[in-house]
Formats: sequence, structure tokens, C-alpha cells
Amino acid sequence: MREILGQKRAKKILENAIQQGRVPHFFIFVGPDGVGKVSMAKEFAMALNCLGTDRPCRNCPMCLSILNNKNPDVILINNETIGISQTRELKEIAFLSPISGRYRVFIIENAENLTLPSANSLLKVLEEPPASSIFIFTARDLNNILKTIISRALIVPFSPVKRDVIFSLLMEKGCPESLASEISYLSGGNVERALEMFDAGDLGGKIVSYQDIEALDTPDQILDTISVALRDGILSLAGADERFIISKRSKAILNGSRLENLIEDFFFIQEIKALEDCNSDWRLALALLYRELEVR
Ligand SMILES: [Zn+2]
Repeated sequence: MREILGQKRAKKILENAIQQGRVPHFFIFVGPDGVGKVSMAKEFAMALNCLGTDRPCRNCPMCLSILNNKNPDVILINNETIGISQTRELKEIAFLSPISGRYRVFIIENAENLTLPSANSLLKVLEEPPASSIFIFTARDLNNILKTIISRALIVPFSPVKRDVIFSLLMEKGCPESLASEISYLSGGNVERALEMFDAGDLGGKIVSYQDIEALDTPDQILDTISVALRDGILSLAGADERFIISKRSKAILNGSRLENLIEDFFFIQEIKALEDCNSDWRLALALLYRELEVR
């Protein structure tokens, strides 16, 4: 599990389970997007089935087939909504012996998307799991998962990846230092997002146009970008040391703004985030803020 960045706590829990030889049959990996939950689930499946001594060796036929998504016993389900027919099929397979390895591992991504009938139908198999099947759910949080399901699981917490870890990763990949520094800040602990920003060659963080806002599925990235820009503007106007100001670009965008306006906007951003959480019309709110920034 050394290949996964950070996540010491999760690694410890999983390594202990393997070393003690008493592997629970149901886990929920909980934490934000882009921090390695699915990769860790695959590493764990490798460790359970590895033919080598230092498990996972990442080198034996078992490890390699799982790494390449070719192992018939490691089943990854990542549909947007997981329906009743899939859960029925999954239950049937769960009671068959694994084809190639010791354990069959079901990885169900975004388990918060399970429909209520599907969750209920899975409950039975999670209550009395077959000896050779392991279930790993991944979820952003536990709020939308049935309590009866949660109570059956070993919860494995994942956290945002630390800035310096993301910074080192980007530097290893040949990212220039100043860009690595900005990306590691803007990515908010999300490794996938950091790598996307690096691949795209920009910060994903230009102050956007109104059309861009309309096209967004989720406002997270834009909100983070504007939050950082506002934060930097506030620090800059308040006379903070240059070292604390992350983005020169942000400073340029906000040049000429007044401190009280920026503080007001910063709190407005937090309100927009709250709107997003309750699925309210955050797009409109964000568009209004954008117009305001543009006018100044
Ligand atoms: Zn191996």
C-alpha cells in the first residue's frame, strides 16, 4: 500500500487487518474525492490475493492482473446509480468461490448513490458475508448511507492529501517549482485534481466567464479558485508578508479592489458553498459574484 500518497491511518488499519489474519468482510472507505480510495481498495485486493511474501508485491501474476483490471475476482462497480438488477447479480456471484485467488473483492464506488432498494437488498449479504468475499464501499461521507449498513462495516477514514506531499509529487513529475506551489495549494488536497491541473498546463483557476459558470456541473473548482484569489487579495491589502500570498495572478486580478469588498465577497463565497450543499441555485449566486468582480 506504499504506492498510495499519504493516508497513514487508512494504511495502518488495512495492514493490521492483513497481519492479524482476521480480515473483516465489509469496509467503507470514507473521505473526499481524489485522495486514493479506489486505488487503495485495489492495493488491498492485491495484498489479499498476492502470491508473494511482501504483500502486495505488485509483481506476481495475481498483483499484475489486479493492477491491470483484468482479474475476474476483483469487481469494480462505479455506475452513477447502482440499481437493483446489479445488486442481485452481485449477490449471486458473491456466494460462488473465487475463480483465481483467495478472495473475491467487490469495490462499490460512491456507495452514497445506492438506491434504497439496492442498499436493502445488499444488507442481507453484508450481514452474513460469504467467507471468501470482501466488500469495499467508497463514499464521500456517511450521511447518505443506511445506518444498518454502516453498523456492519469497518470504517476506514481518508483525508485530503497534505500540500507538501502533492508539491513533491508534482516536482517529481517535472512541474516547475512556482507552478507546483500554486497547484498544491489550489488542489485542496485532491491529488487527481492537482494532476489534471498540471496536465492541462494551467491552474484550472482563471477567473471564469459567465458562460463557463453556466456549463459547470459543480462549482467546487471555481469556488476554490475565487476563494484563494479573495484570500490573497485580503492578505495583500492588509499588508501581509509576501510569503503568505500564494498567487501573483490572483493579486493582479483583484488589483484596485477595496478591502471591505473583498472580505464581503469572501463570506459570500462561503454562502454559495452552503447553497451548493443544499442543491440550491448556486449557479445564479456565483454568476452574480462574478459580475460584481468584473465590474470593479
Ligand atoms: Zn503479488
